[in-house]
Amino acid sequence: MSETCGNRGNGRREFLKTTAATGVAVGAASRLLAAPQPDNNFPLVTLGKTGEKVTKLGMGTSWTLSPSFVQAAIFSGIKYIDTAEGYERGTSESTLGEVIERTGTRKQLYLVTKTHEYGRIKGEQAIHKSLEQHLEGSLKRLRTDYADSFYLHGMSGRQIEALRDPDMKKAFEKLKKSGKIRFAGLSCHDAMLPEILEAAAEVGWLDQVMFQYNFRFVNHDKLQRAIDKASKANLGLIAMKTQKGAESFPDKIDALKEKGFKKEVAAIKAVYQDQRMQVVVSEMTNRTELRENMGAVNDPLTKKEAMLLEEHRLKTANMYCHGCGHLCETAAKGVPVATVLRYLRYYTAYGKRQEARALYQALPAEARDLATADLAAAEKACPFGLPVAQLVQIADHRLS
Ligand code: SF4
Repeated sequence: MSETCGNRGNGRREFLKTTAATGVAVGAASRLLAAPQPDNNFPLVTLGKTGEKVTKLGMGTSWTLSPSFVQAAIFSGIKYIDTAEGYERGTSESTLGEVIERTGTRKQLYLVTKTHEYGRIKGEQAIHKSLEQHLEGSLKRLRTDYADSFYLHGMSGRQIEALRDPDMKKAFEKLKKSGKIRFAGLSCHDAMLPEILEAAAEVGWLDQVMFQYNFRFVNHDKLQRAIDKASKANLGLIAMKTQKGAESFPDKIDALKEKGFKKEVAAIKAVYQDQRMQVVVSEMTNRTELRENMGAVNDPLTKKEAMLLEEHRLKTANMYCHGCGHLCETAAKGVPVATVLRYLRYYTAYGKRQEARALYQALPAEARDLATADLAAAEKACPFGLPVAQLVQIADHRLS
């Protein structure tokens, strides 16, 4: 069993830095074909201040899970599983619970679940009661009596004060004391991610944070400084949305494929190399993706992959919404551009059509009122030169 992450703070320097091949060739692929026994040889990392040993590759579950695939992932050695009460309206948790119970693998897993229900509730007792109620629903579906970590799900900039609320801290401490959770965390893909990460590092009571992070953020100075701060605070750092987001540029991807390059593999390797990040949660849906992501753990980004990934980043920078938010949204007067474009990405890149539509349609009417929004001004304000007006129109057309 080897420790692949321990040298904190090398972060950005390492993010796209190519490294020499180590010669450590782990036969992850062949393990998938072997007898279905839990494999305990997959390399582990220490998850920040939790001190827990987990796999650097985690499994995301925000899709209609196939029990046989979940079992294959667990038996191939994945120890880190991320879920939420809201994924597929609770059925992701139910499927996980069924597989975990049947295979008797609960104790070997690090299981994370989350709730969206927080922020509006005030007072220690009320917060605790609400969190406990949602947690218990998750535990019942997961067929377990504890979660390794419980998250405030999808924190937005508007909810940042919840982190500084002493009653929230006490409510989580009470849940820990009861044994229903071991650690506390949050997830975030909001425009105010840097501010949320900094607050998470300052308040001290959180153990881990999961956030959107991929090769496109290498030049995002504010975010990089916030990650440094969170890393110094020894928070467990988990990346999500690491690989997708470019299928919507088939012309660019096809050209890369001709050069023998697979963007998703290079993208996950780039984040594996960032030594501040301990885990990458990937939304794998088939054994090929599982095999590739496992193999990539011990297969450093080559010079050629780094070069092609950077080429791809530069060529598509003005097509990919970075979620930075406030500039275009202030100008748009009402339309939450970053959120709308994220839902469009769920629809186009992730193939989550129903979920994307449901999320868009749940936005308040004024957020979808394109007639009164100033999309031309939003487009002008976007520092990446995105065709904001056109993209928002496409989103509205597909998601309404
Ligand atoms: S449209 Fe541009 S400014 Fe707005 S969130 Fe996306 S990248 Fe940022």
